[in-house]
Amino acid sequence: MRCSNCGKCCEKTEMELSSKDIERLEKKGYRREEFAVIAGGVARLRNVGGWCYFYSLADKKCRVYGKRPLGCYLYPVVYLMNEGAVVDELCPMGQTISEQELRTKGKILDKLLKKMDNERKCK
Ligand code: SF4
Repeated sequence: MRCSNCGKCCEKTEMELSSKDIERLEKKGYRREEFAVIAGGVARLRNVGGWCYFYSLADKKCRVYGKRPLGCYLYPVVYLMNEGAVVDELCPMGQTISEQELRTKGKILDKLLKKMDNERKCK
């Protein structure tokens, strides 16, 4: 897909984090208490002033782009109950995603969601 770097997906984010996401970001020197909020056993990206902790408003880009959470990499492919993997209608460039990319990212998303579900059960 062609991303326009609009930043919409980084505004008021509710992106869930897997244990691997957290480990990867900690290896970059960030502390989980800073970038994540944990509620009901679910870790999510923290917002600061309405934007993801890692989003630079000045540069209009992600400060950890190469190490961003897998859910951010998969976006705008999201999972909807009863529909499965779909392209999020909030993404203005969503129509540029190919069927092939949707299928591929959908499979990865499915595995990720199962993994995060297992992680929660093991806590
Ligand atoms: S980690 Fe990066 S890509 Fe993901 S929501 Fe935050 S700023 Fe956006």
